[in-house]
Amino acid sequence: MEIACPSCAETERLSGETRDDVIWITCAACGTTWARDPDVCADCGARSIADRREPLYQKARGTQQSIIGYRIVKECWSCGWAEESSDSSN
Ligand SMILES: [Zn+2]
Ligand SMILES: [Zn+2]
Repeated sequence: MEIACPSCAETERLSGETRDDVIWITCAACGTTWARDPDVCADCGARSIADRREPLYQKARGTQQSIIGYRIVKECWSCGWAEESSDSSN
C-alpha cells in the first residue's frame, strides 16, 4: 500500500516518526503530519477507529433488495470521523 499525503498527495518526501506506538508521517512538501497506524484517527488522534460493516445491496426489480456483500467502513467512535472508501467496482 502506497502512502500519500492526505493534503497534497505527495508520495516521495515523507518521513516517519514513532510516538506513543504510533507511526506519524510528516510531509516535507506541505508540513502535514498524520498517523500511519490504521487504528489511529487522523482527525482526533485517538485509537478509536473501528471497522463497521455496511451491507451492499443489489438493485433489483420491484422493492426486493438483496444483500450481495459488505464493505468495510472505518469509523472513529471518538470524533465521528468516517472513511468513505469509494468502491466503484461494477
Ligand atoms: Zn503534503
Ligand atoms: Zn477521531
